[in-house]
Amino acid sequence: MSKDLYVVAEQRDGEIAKVTLELLGEATKLAADLGEKVVGVLMGDGIKGKAQEMIEAGADKVIVIEDPMLAEYVTEPYTKALTALIKEYDPNIVLFGASSIGRDLAPRVAARIHTGLTADCTHLDIDMEKYFEFLHATSTADTDAIAKKLGMDDKTLKMTRPAFGGNVMATIRCADYRPQMATVRPGVMKLAEAQPGKQGEVEDFKVEFTPEDMNVTIKEVIKETKKAVDITDAKVLVSGGRGIGSADYYKELQKVADLLGGEISSSRANVDAGWIAKDRQVGQTGKTVRPDLYLACGISGAIQHIAGMENSECVISINKNDTAAIFDVSDLGIVGDVKVIIPKLIDALTKYKA
Ligand code: FAD
Repeated sequence: MSKDLYVVAEQRDGEIAKVTLELLGEATKLAADLGEKVVGVLMGDGIKGKAQEMIEAGADKVIVIEDPMLAEYVTEPYTKALTALIKEYDPNIVLFGASSIGRDLAPRVAARIHTGLTADCTHLDIDMEKYFEFLHATSTADTDAIAKKLGMDDKTLKMTRPAFGGNVMATIRCADYRPQMATVRPGVMKLAEAQPGKQGEVEDFKVEFTPEDMNVTIKEVIKETKKAVDITDAKVLVSGGRGIGSADYYKELQKVADLLGGEISSSRANVDAGWIAKDRQVGQTGKTVRPDLYLACGISGAIQHIAGMENSECVISINKNDTAAIFDVSDLGIVGDVKVIIPKLIDALTKYKA
C-alpha cells in the first residue's frame, strides 16, 4: 500500500536548496494528519553528508542515491533514479520545488509511473472531511483501524494552485493514482525552524546506470559571475509599480531599500516595460516573497501581484487612488503621490540613521 510523504531534495554543488527545507517543514504538518512519515530523497555524488540537514529540517528518514552519473543535474539519469525509487518504495505523496529542476524532473517521473502531477502549487492540505465525519459518528476506541477498514480514511492531498490567469484558485486531487505528486513554488511554504541534533534513519538506494543513461555530455559548467539577487531572501522589499512613472525612479526606491537594508522589487508592468529585470518581479509569474516588510509604491494590487506578496509579515502601500486593491492587503495604507512621499521617507530615514 502506498505510504509516506516523500520530498525530493534539490541540491546544487552539494547545497540543499531553501525550497527543499521549506517543503520538509510543510511535509511534517501533512504527515501528522496522515499518520505517516516524512522521507527525504537525496540524489547526487558524494552528497550523503547532507542527509542530516534534511532530518533536522523535518525528515524522519532520508533515502540517498549516490552515483557519479548524478554529479550534475541531467534530466535522464535523475528521472531514471527517481522512477526506480518510487517503484521500489511506493510513496503516497511526492513533493518537489517548482524550480527549474523540479519543473523538469517532476513531469517526466509522473509520466513514467503513470500518475498525476499538480504544478506550481501555492497551498497543500489533507482532505480530512470523510475521516472527521466517521469520527463524529463513531464511539469506538480503535478509530483509525476501523476507519481504514470501512474506507473512511480517504485522506487525499488537496493541491491548490492559481488557474485561469490567477482569477481562480483551483484545488486538485489525484484520487485514483499513487503517488500524488506536486511541485510547490519556492517561498510559499514558511521555513520551519531546524531541530539541531534530531535523529533519523539514512538509507542507501542503488540504481544500476548504463553509459546510455547519460544522453547529454557536460563539457563545462560556467557559473554566472554576477551574483543574481534573490528577492525571496530579502527581509525588506521596496517594490515599484507603474505608478513610479519611469525606470529612473527605481534609483530613489533603491535609496529607501539601502536605508532599510533591503532590496528593490517590482510589479510585472514594469518588468514588461523593460524598467527592471525579470528576477525582481513579484507575483504569480514572478517570485513569491514573504519579507518582514513589503513597501508597495504605485502598485494597484492586481490579484496576480498579490498572489506573490500577501504572506509578507507587514505590508505598507503608497497609492494615490484610495480604492486601490493593494490597500485591502496592507497593514498601513498611505494615500498620496509616491513622488511626494518617497523623498520625505528618505529624508526621515537618513535623519534617523544619522
Ligand atoms: P497598474 O495596475 O497600472 O497600477 C499602477 C498604480 O499606481 C495604480 O493603482 C495607480 O493608482 C498608482 N499610481 C499612479 N501614479 C501614482 C503616483 N504618482 N503615486 C502613487 N500611486 C500612483 N503582475 C504582477 O505584478 N506580477 C505577476 O507575476 C503577474 N503575473 C500575471 C500573470 C497573468 C497570467 C496575467 C494575465 C497578469 C499578470 N500580472 C502580474 C499583471 C497584473 O494583472 C497587473 O497588470 C500588474 O500587476 C499591474 O502592475 P501595476 O500595479 O504596477 O500597474
